[in-house]
Amino acid sequence: MKKNLNILKTKTKIELGKNSYYVFLGYLLKKISSLLGKEKYGNKILILSDKNVFPIYGETVKNAVVSKGKEVTEIILPPGEKSKNLKRVEEIIGFCASGKMSRDDTVLTLGGGVISDLGGFAASIYMRGINFISCPTSLLAQVDASIGGKTGINLPFGKNLVGSFYQPSAVYVDFNTLLTLPEREKKQGMAEIIKYGIIKSRKLFQLLETIELSGLIEKLPDIIEQCVKIKGNVVEKDEREKTGFREILNFGHTLGHAIEIAYSPRLNHGESVALGMVGESYLGWKTGLCGKDVFKKIKAVVEQFKLPVSYRNIEIDSILKYLWYDKKVKKNKLRFVLPEKIGTVKKGMELNQKEINYALKEMVRNERY
Ligand code: ADP
Ligand code: ZN
Repeated sequence: MKKNLNILKTKTKIELGKNSYYVFLGYLLKKISSLLGKEKYGNKILILSDKNVFPIYGETVKNAVVSKGKEVTEIILPPGEKSKNLKRVEEIIGFCASGKMSRDDTVLTLGGGVISDLGGFAASIYMRGINFISCPTSLLAQVDASIGGKTGINLPFGKNLVGSFYQPSAVYVDFNTLLTLPEREKKQGMAEIIKYGIIKSRKLFQLLETIELSGLIEKLPDIIEQCVKIKGNVVEKDEREKTGFREILNFGHTLGHAIEIAYSPRLNHGESVALGMVGESYLGWKTGLCGKDVFKKIKAVVEQFKLPVSYRNIEIDSILKYLWYDKKVKKNKLRFVLPEKIGTVKKGMELNQKEINYALKEMVRNERY
């Protein structure tokens, strides 16, 4: 019998005043008709998806729209980061305009983070904002990209350089979509999940420590719910990244981004963040913020989920160069989020290049610890 992961069904509200919305977790895609049937989502629904996801789930969503007597169209893009560009935005908004979509109609994204970032951005600028519903189908998108309202695309100069803060009207998650997600994509999501444990939840981290890879999939619904709540709480306190509270979500991402720029496409975002978390935990230990045990625990969990932990093939000098592109650089000092203990991090930890260089090279020399 086919597995059913929708064993948990919840509705979590992300409280953002007039921008509040619900995250529906554990709902079947074919039942999305009860959401899409609502008058406030208009009469025209545009589905944005990619060539991997649409053939598996597209028809189900289309039928759900048609069953409510609404008009449905779709744009299906090549999968991957390269679709996150301005030309695609032009294509999407051109399609909306030629289809005479009005502000009451809806853009529905069905796919991973690439699709929701791109579709959310297009939805935010077409007629200064049209309804946007996100159906994240990758683990990374379910725990991270679809919560928080950051939309955007890449420029040749760098990733996510153009974008907006635009909250969806709803996020709708069918856990069963994870059953077709490739292993490497699942691991990417695990990197962000481990991050949530480290920054905010000792309980989640301890749960992760007990999980065997073979039994992971059944545990994901509960884990995803915990992550959505954690990210939701952070975002509620700092919707537009103004107060600095959101900065804690960058744990593992300062080194991680630099590694991603230097080693993409060999290493993907999740793998780079995994290495980033290991490196930044080492920095936490070496600056005296946390004990060696914290570093060791973090490294062990990252390794447990078959994510990379070794810097043996990483050139420290080249990643240091890329660190300076980071948005958090202030007065020649690099700002890090470092662990204090499992479940608590400290943001705004300033380190200079010499300290980072020394610590990371020492880490590589002693890789067995
Ligand atoms: P992200 O990792 O940020 O979610 P993508 O949108 O590129 O980024 O998604 C990762 C890859 O996984 C893409 O190739 C996408 O087509 C594929 N994918 C996403 N969801 C599923 C799914 N449920 N089943 C199969 N493939 C999927
Ligand atoms: Zn990330």
